[in-house]
Amino acid sequence: MQVYADNAATTKMSQTAINAMLPYMERIYGNPSSLHSVGQEAAEALQSARETIAKCLNASPNEITFTSGGSEADNQALLSAAWLGLRKGKKHIISTAFEHHAILHTLKRLEKEGFEVQLLDVGPLGNITAQQVADAIREDTCLVTTMYANNEIGSILPIAEIGAVCKEKGVLFHTDAVQAAGHLPIDVKAQNIDMLSLSAHKFHGPKGVGVLYARRGVPLTSLIEGGAQERGKRAGTENIPGIMGMAAALQDACEHMEANAVHVSHLRDRLIEGLSQIPHSALNGDPVNRLPGNVSFCFEGIEGESLLLLLDSKGICASSGSACTSGSLDPSHVLLAIGRPHEVAHGSLRLSLSEWNTDEEIDHILAEVPWVVEYLRNMSPMWKDLISGRKPFIL
Ligand SMILES: *Cc1c(COP(=O)(O)O)cnc(C)c1O
Repeated sequence: MQVYADNAATTKMSQTAINAMLPYMERIYGNPSSLHSVGQEAAEALQSARETIAKCLNASPNEITFTSGGSEADNQALLSAAWLGLRKGKKHIISTAFEHHAILHTLKRLEKEGFEVQLLDVGPLGNITAQQVADAIREDTCLVTTMYANNEIGSILPIAEIGAVCKEKGVLFHTDAVQAAGHLPIDVKAQNIDMLSLSAHKFHGPKGVGVLYARRGVPLTSLIEGGAQERGKRAGTENIPGIMGMAAALQDACEHMEANAVHVSHLRDRLIEGLSQIPHSALNGDPVNRLPGNVSFCFEGIEGESLLLLLDSKGICASSGSACTSGSLDPSHVLLAIGRPHEVAHGSLRLSLSEWNTDEEIDHILAEVPWVVEYLRNMSPMWKDLISGRKPFIL
């Protein structure tokens, strides 16, 4: 049995998305900037995709900028807001300690340019309050950027409350909604969101395409110079097939959001219940306030990488944290941010589900993980230190 449980890293494309893309590869291949009919047909499709996506977010079509994905949208949002602030003499930026690296590394870049970045503490459950944001805002704050939902431990942040605080204080608010889009409700007006990033491949759309929403009146700086595409905010011939696939996938996800959430959270809760039975294990993140598809655990005394390889040999595709940190030996910055010590953070497992996972697949995972953990512990020098009492258990 093959079980794909790494949907926070990427998802399989839906047939709906594929079908929406095919005509724009086979027949309607024109450049939307061309004046002839083949180009104009593509331009009309582009506009309809912009309208579909705007509707899903309660935004206007001209507030939507197409990008190459979540990372580019995050980069452009932060750099635009920071450079805008600089022109007004504002150099203070507020974010959180457990953002995606597309945010954290852009903030590092801004620090080198002279900005002061303040990362809010996310506490043991992995969340922040709007009050923390309110307390951190200063006269010279030009941007608050907090993710909507965390990609490793699934925490859902109080976005509407943070948006209200930022609006009241007159500070721009950006949210990395890559894990939320298509899975949690988004209403940029009701939630007072000034800028928002999303990425198609996290909701069964194609890879390499995303959106930066920027409220009317929030000026974006172009990071890619060239033609006048995207109202001069993002040069380059538009990725029409990708954009069409993204619009279809987002609409599909939004239409089925509630039903999908019911099914997926049922599977999630079965996994959490079952894996909690493993001794010296702990759930990461908030048991209640979490993404419908996110399960994240630490198992003491083992290495997450060996766990992943053994699970893969049993047909289970999972992750030890974020795909971006795999391959490096550093433990996840998210697990460190919620206070897991290094040795515990190394033994992490993330299972992220989609609406296509089944109860039978959950049975399979629950049958395999406990003995694989036990097998690895029996070979682990770390575990020997723990059971012999040479080192105290943490979990
Ligand atoms: C996947 C992800 C990104 C990056 O999106 P890409 O489209 O892969 O560049 C950014 N932020 C979060 C929270 C993500 O999960």
